[in-house]
Amino acid sequence: MRIDVLTIFPEMVEGFASASLLGKGRRNGLLDVRVHDLRSVAADPHRSVDDAPFGGGAGMVLMAEPIFATVEAVDPPRPLLALGPGGRRFDQAMARELAATGGFSLLCGRYEGIDHRVHANLVDGEVSIGDYVLAGGEVAAMVILEAVGRLVPGVMGNVNSAEDESFSDGLLEYPQYTRPASLRGLAVPEVLLSGDHGRIARWRRAQSLVRTAGDRPDLWQARGGLLPGEERLLAEFGLAVPGAAAHPGR
Ligand code: SAH
Repeated sequence: MRIDVLTIFPEMVEGFASASLLGKGRRNGLLDVRVHDLRSVAADPHRSVDDAPFGGGAGMVLMAEPIFATVEAVDPPRPLLALGPGGRRFDQAMARELAATGGFSLLCGRYEGIDHRVHANLVDGEVSIGDYVLAGGEVAAMVILEAVGRLVPGVMGNVNSAEDESFSDGLLEYPQYTRPASLRGLAVPEVLLSGDHGRIARWRRAQSLVRTAGDRPDLWQARGGLLPGEERLLAEFGLAVPGAAAHPGR
């Protein structure tokens, strides 16, 4: 999978994409991440990429020409997505969508944003990582790179690890524990040491349900609360979810 990133701070993204999982994916030839410096096509000696906004106002705006010129020079894979607070909200479903493509590209804004002619005529869409304003698109690009990169087949060593984690089925993941079984008087739940894999799977499912209902009412509501049989599953471990009685007959 090829992912191109267009930025005026290539060193930020390059460093990030060279470490850990992404770095390994690149070295293994699974991820082809190409970081392009928008300044390298700037025509003037100062390599300017920004200018004052027409109509006045604070700050600077990324100029359209270096962005058009970079896209023409490197022909980045489409869709080309601009990062911006007004875009489609990035989430795990979108990460899966992007991981299923052959590649895509990310354009990082800076300052007050990007000349609107780029949005209207060059990019295919805009993506936001949340309702807050960053100083630039680089961190957002790195979020997307990592969330998508780890879903590319082979990048994560264990193919199963992406399947039962948070959001994969509209639920949060169950709690995880590792050695030692007892630490500072705090014990690991007995069921995890039982070797009974059916019971462990049921316990994990029950924990996912309780955790999602308690911590993420939005996800819980979207899922429609408890499904048939799940009340019994919770009862096996003496658990219940808030408001379970509000769904009589389930
Ligand atoms: N003046 C703009 C904000 C510009 S922030 C406004 O009010 O909408 C500068 C750059 O940071 C943006 O061009 C964008 O690339 C990036 N950015 C800021 N917040 C972001 C967010 N929530 N998600 C993705 N990118 C963001």
